[in-house]
Amino acid sequence: MPTSLLDDMIGVGDMVLLEPLNEDSFIDNLKKRFDHSEVYTYIGSVVISINPYRPLPIYTPEKVEEYRNRNFYELSPHIFALSDEAYRSLRDQDKDQCILITGESGAGKTEASKLVMSYVAAVCGKGAEVNQVKEQLLQSNPVLEAFGNAKTVRNDNSSRFGKYMDIEFDFKGDPLGGVISNYLLEKSRVVKQPRGERNFHIFYQILSGASEDFLCKLKLERDFSRYNYLGLDSARVNGVDDAANFRTVRNAMQIVGFMDHETQSVFEVVAAVLKLGNIEFKPESHALALCSASGVCLGREPLRYCGNLKKTWAYYARDALAKNLYSRLFSWLVTRINESIKVLKKVMGVLDIYGFEIFEDNSFEQFIINYCNEKLQQIFIELTLKEEQEEYIREGIEWTHIEYFNNAIICDLIENNQTGILAMLDEECLRPGTVTDDTFLEKLNQVCATHQHFESRMSKCSRFLNDTSLPHSCFRIQHYAGKVMYQVEGFVDKNNDLLYRDLSQAMWKASHSLIKALFPEGNPAKINLKRPPTAGSQFKASVATLMKNLQTKNPNYIRCIKPNDKKAAHIFNDALVCHQIRYLGLLENVRVRRAGYAFRQAYEPCLERYKMLCKQTWPHWRGPARAGVEVLFNELEIPEEEFSFGRSKIFIRNPRTLFKLEDLRKQR
Ligand code: ATP
Ligand code: MG
Repeated sequence: MPTSLLDDMIGVGDMVLLEPLNEDSFIDNLKKRFDHSEVYTYIGSVVISINPYRPLPIYTPEKVEEYRNRNFYELSPHIFALSDEAYRSLRDQDKDQCILITGESGAGKTEASKLVMSYVAAVCGKGAEVNQVKEQLLQSNPVLEAFGNAKTVRNDNSSRFGKYMDIEFDFKGDPLGGVISNYLLEKSRVVKQPRGERNFHIFYQILSGASEDFLCKLKLERDFSRYNYLGLDSARVNGVDDAANFRTVRNAMQIVGFMDHETQSVFEVVAAVLKLGNIEFKPESHALALCSASGVCLGREPLRYCGNLKKTWAYYARDALAKNLYSRLFSWLVTRINESIKVLKKVMGVLDIYGFEIFEDNSFEQFIINYCNEKLQQIFIELTLKEEQEEYIREGIEWTHIEYFNNAIICDLIENNQTGILAMLDEECLRPGTVTDDTFLEKLNQVCATHQHFESRMSKCSRFLNDTSLPHSCFRIQHYAGKVMYQVEGFVDKNNDLLYRDLSQAMWKASHSLIKALFPEGNPAKINLKRPPTAGSQFKASVATLMKNLQTKNPNYIRCIKPNDKKAAHIFNDALVCHQIRYLGLLENVRVRRAGYAFRQAYEPCLERYKMLCKQTWPHWRGPARAGVEVLFNELEIPEEEFSFGRSKIFIRNPRTLFKLEDLRKQR
């Protein structure tokens, strides 16, 4: 037990050792540590990470060396300790690992995932070939961030897609490659952004960083304000150099393995999306002119498109096309990166998915994001409990059951095949007749009105009839992380996610080979009259696959906490932190970990550390470590009910016993 875990000045490094244990002491401990720039704290093997919002000198190559090949509890808490532990279990014990990083928007998940990846890259393998693989894996980050991240009010670099990356290793533990899965890009952002937010980074990067010549080729102008799709009120972000980032992205694309013509095509599509947004439709020209639209946007021959759509529909079609173009481009990028880095061996997965979101106006996107977070919480509950239980069984120690809020009931409200919200949304979307967001809400209300975690005012029987804080056009879900009110407007449409068939066909006919490849369903030879799956059901299926994948691996947890809402350093807002530790269930986590026994340690290191306290074991104990620890505890007269001997570890019931041992050591 390193003294760093028990230093009074900076609080305890492992919450399991906190005495007394309650919400206040938990927060005080985090705060004390935060004030001393200790942003990591353990709950057993779980790492809590608080976003410092400033660069800390704790990620240097020297630090990497310090943590390399050391046991988890040997040094002060660090994300490198978890990374090292996961990497070594994978290399030496052949156990696939996954690193699950959770927390709300701005809590530091993406940064944490990059720290894990860079640590693993630093400690694994050597040689030119291995180095190239590492570089490719690491450089996929800037590419995907440029296309999939954006400035939001919560986070200047907010991930607007979910990402899971398997890093693959050979039997020696050298990296071979990886596979990335992406989850639902928030494509509505392409055409419209909330106040104070931006479109995806790449648009600003290209306009700021491309040479005059390249812009001219793409028929773009440098001025952001020329483009309808670029939010105006926050075009520049403090501390962000779009032009420099553009160079980083191009360089990264090259390292990952994009050919020059591919990179060129990608930027042509980005430019096409920007220009689509500037197409206007005159009232008199209803015979729709997306023909010239496509002509302008591609800078090639016009695509013929005719129809009798009304003006609003014309805009709708334009935006739908822009969103589809962009999100398909994004998926294509992921597939293309995978082609460069894919192989299949033992793997370490790193999951960095959008955090739980509560905005003033929450729509379909937030609903989907929050559903995903419910599922992650669910897997956390299952696996922590399971892992704990299994350890007790393995070690032959009796298990005590602990009450825990299980959010399975909320997952069910959303994903149940018959009565779940997603199923009902699908049903509405497929139903003949007039389908609107209101009819969807009505339906929800019939089916979910009595569900404990569902609230709405629409139906007469509703318990929330007089709740004026809940508008008629909304429903509210009590998520594990808090109540969220969703505006139903747009749900049906976003779930349908339909693109007029003619538009797909027009895109497929484009002479631009990347655009053509992005719309395979436009091929008249492959017309499929079946409806494509809805956005909701696609997401549900991909989350289910992800959960299955995670369950086959050994989980490692990083729980990220956001200390303030100002994106600022040195500010620790107690109430905000308190809310997060509550919904993350961190106190229960400590309780489960302490159920029965607060602390456990393998016999060898335990004997090594405390053998100086006992004449019989000092300086050398000849015999099994377990017997040595028995002799030691006996001589120190530690009451029998305070500990248990497991098969490979000693289990200590109360943190005080450990403190006593530590005190005795200090007195020597
Ligand atoms: P979202 O869900 O919106 O994607 P996130 O949890 O991924 O949010 P990050 O983008 O990782 O959040 O972090 C937000 C910002 O906080 C970073 O851009 C960086 O400025 C700062 N930050 C996060 N972690 C650290 C760290 N360990 N050290 C220094 N700064 C950090
Ligand atoms: Mg992120």
